Amino acid sequence: MSFAPVVGVLGLQGDVREHVAALSAAGADAVRVRRASELDDVDAIVIPGGESTTIGKLLVAFDLLEPLQKRVRAGMPAYGSCAGMILLADRVLDGTADQVAVGGLDITVRRNAFGRQVDSFEGDIDFAGLRSPLHAVFIRAPWVEDAGESVQVLAKVGDGQAAGRIVAVRQGPLMATSFHPELTGDLRVHQLFVQIVKEQQL
Ligand code: GLN
Repeated sequence: MSFAPVVGVLGLQGDVREHVAALSAAGADAVRVRRASELDDVDAIVIPGGESTTIGKLLVAFDLLEPLQKRVRAGMPAYGSCAGMILLADRVLDGTADQVAVGGLDITVRRNAFGRQVDSFEGDIDFAGLRSPLHAVFIRAPWVEDAGESVQVLAKVGDGQAAGRIVAVRQGPLMATSFHPELTGDLRVHQLFVQIVKEQQL
């Protein structure tokens, strides 16, 4: 018998609906999380793309920052896409002075790293554990400038100016991508996260 883990999508700002749809299609019971009581009910959380500074401010305004930090520190699986990656990072470059963080991932990310000329682009990248390349959509995306020893690099940019830059990582139950798998219809990243959530529950 299979079971569906309850995966929350932080629903304060950003592409929330797309993650709910992708998680549901990947076999999770996906719900929006906007208050601390809703966070209590989920097995895992997805922090969507959007604007990390705005999401951070809303986390404070909705009294969600501390509860979220506590759950992540206690081992709740979390997946951050783009702005979500920035929020899960322990260190942020080119952030705003008042930028808040959930933290947890031993990485340094650079916000809007790909620069103005190429602030949005798409490309196929190799992703650890996947048999064929993944189509990745980058929108004013961060990259991982530096990752700690316990961080597994899942994907790097293959070619172009940003070749070799780290754009997907995992550290135990925490995962982050610079890009937006929820926009492509390819469910494999969400399936991987749902798998991580299930493994945590065994
Ligand atoms: N540049 C945004 C930030 O700093 C992230 C962009 C995105 O999530 N698509 O939060």
